[in-house]
Amino acid sequence: MRKNIVAGNWKMNKNLQEGIALAKELNEALAADKPNCDVVICTPFIHLASVTPIVDSAVIGVGAENCADKVSGAYTGEVSAEMVASTGAQYVILGHSERRSYYGETVEILEEKVKLALANNLTPIFCIGEVLEERQAEKQNEVVAAQLASVFTLSAEDFGKIILAYEPVWAIGTGLTATPEQAQDIHAYIRSLIAEKYGNEVADNCSILYGGSCKPSNVKELFAKPDVDGGLIGGAALKVADFKGIIDAFK
Ligand code: PEP
Repeated sequence: MRKNIVAGNWKMNKNLQEGIALAKELNEALAADKPNCDVVICTPFIHLASVTPIVDSAVIGVGAENCADKVSGAYTGEVSAEMVASTGAQYVILGHSERRSYYGETVEILEEKVKLALANNLTPIFCIGEVLEERQAEKQNEVVAAQLASVFTLSAEDFGKIILAYEPVWAIGTGLTATPEQAQDIHAYIRSLIAEKYGNEVADNCSILYGGSCKPSNVKELFAKPDVDGGLIGGAALKVADFKGIIDAFK
């Protein structure tokens, strides 16, 4: 069954002590008022081993924001999927637009990362989305279709384990949000591509999150759309009141 999910992406914010405090505060808030959706926080690598034991894993999943495209060895500064999993983390964001644009992550590199994440029992939250010029040229469908090549080599069984996040790059951290209709149109298109490749059941069961300047005041309408199954949240995941306000949209 398709799940509703709200996932936070902390990016390169919060030192270790601040991150622990944020995770504790969120854990307390959600213990007092149980969410009606799955909740995930994706943190910098160094936070993972400290954050996983302090949150209730039945309520909050923990993930990394990236992992290496290699198994192990002489790759200075990299962190493998196995290392991420060894912290107790269960998720990993892959293909975020910031990784694609600042660190040159290609379709092929991301295909490797997705496979290694799955091999280590991590659930990839795989991000796709177009930049502003592509949207203005009405090329968004072509762009997301090409980006899906990284995950369309998976078996149907493995594809069934991933979460997708549609994140228009022009909406990330800009305060601009796709309209609920724009989000619904492209989510439905993405689901149709999954159905073509893997069949209706796999497509129906795939959670497709929307990401890009989500806040408590705009998510209700977005999440109400039939093909929008939750959100990937950047800035608003850094304050418990805002993140919980988004989670509460499912109440
Ligand atoms: C993100 O980076 O995944 C994101 C959606 O950021 P923001 O919510 O800040 O736009």
